[in-house]
Amino acid sequence: MYQCSKAGIKDKIETFSRFGAAGRGGITRFSLSAEAIAARKEFAKRMAAIGAEIITDDMANMYATIAGSEAGLPRIATGSHADSVRNGGNYDGILGVISAMETLETIVREKIPHRHPLTAVIWTNEEGSLYPPAMMSSGVICGKFDKAAALASKGVSPEAEGRTFGEALAASGFAGDEKNRLNPEEYCAMLELHIEQGPVLEAEKKQIGVVDGVVGMFNYRIQTRGQADHAGTTPMSFRKDALLAAASAIKWIHAEMDTLPRDIVYTTGEIKLHPNVHTVIPDEVEFSLDVRHWDPAVLAKALETIQKIPSEFDKCAVTYREAWSRKRCEFDRELVALVERSAGELGYSSMLMHSGPGHDAQYVSDMLPATMIFVPSKDGHSHCEEEFTSLDEAWAGINVALNTILAIDKK
Ligand SMILES: [Zn+2]
Repeated sequence: MYQCSKAGIKDKIETFSRFGAAGRGGITRFSLSAEAIAARKEFAKRMAAIGAEIITDDMANMYATIAGSEAGLPRIATGSHADSVRNGGNYDGILGVISAMETLETIVREKIPHRHPLTAVIWTNEEGSLYPPAMMSSGVICGKFDKAAALASKGVSPEAEGRTFGEALAASGFAGDEKNRLNPEEYCAMLELHIEQGPVLEAEKKQIGVVDGVVGMFNYRIQTRGQADHAGTTPMSFRKDALLAAASAIKWIHAEMDTLPRDIVYTTGEIKLHPNVHTVIPDEVEFSLDVRHWDPAVLAKALETIQKIPSEFDKCAVTYREAWSRKRCEFDRELVALVERSAGELGYSSMLMHSGPGHDAQYVSDMLPATMIFVPSKDGHSHCEEEFTSLDEAWAGINVALNTILAIDKK
């Protein structure tokens, strides 16, 4: 079994934490921002130093490839994203890019024989923080999203300065050729290492998450409609308060969903309130409901629950609609088994798990065999500055990645 350089990983974590450092321990590194471009240049510099050939595709996804010993074989890809949410941490996404760089560097430095070309990848705009949707560029090249719609995506924060994703892409200097996209002819596998972003590995005292897929999910929008009236003149018994009705609907949903298997997760994270004025009784509320589970039968039950939501709460009408849904994604069984085997051979504790969040590997898995490795997140925190994975935990995960890549290479 081979091992990566712990010092090399430490150096990369520290170096990349500077691009977009927000001064409070974390980073804000929106895709294609000046900070993200600095991170890309650092990636390119380090990969050029080991003799990798670097190309970008039309969505600015970056591919750094070292040649294999056998001509004509497809590439094995590994990587993740280098962008972050606002005031995010130093590990989400970038640790997978660091893993890819460290894997290639170790193979070159130690002259480890390998037949296939090996490619380190940076996926563009995974978070979709400035330009929605999330997983935009892997989604476009894997046929999930329409490219024209992605290019037209308007920045949602002042940092975008009114630009679309397409304008930011053109200005970035990283837009390449469509023919450079990852594709099933030139690539044979893709491995993504990522922090777990949840508390399970830490709680179970396991070093490695062997990820067998991404849970199915759906997102509903639920509306309540009442009557706007004056807050001072309308007696309580006369009111049709859409916010009160939304609160009742949310309580009802929780009571019903809690009768389903305990490992279902559901969230109301967004709410729109009209007119949102402190002297007016709200007349229209819309809130989100995000529901996730591995088992399609459980998701179907959750859907039945939504469909039997009462049509009225607190004298307000209740309606609902689906915003989007995603079927569960099952990763390639052979690759999953290779990750499990590599972890075992390295003497690491591991457990099989599903991913709750979506990841670029999920879209890629529709195109070629793909899988993921999870490493622990301290206290389960992610998408925040407290996000932390220890150097030893990162090193273990990256060692599994290195040996999994070499096992794929032997197949
Ligand atoms: Zn991520």
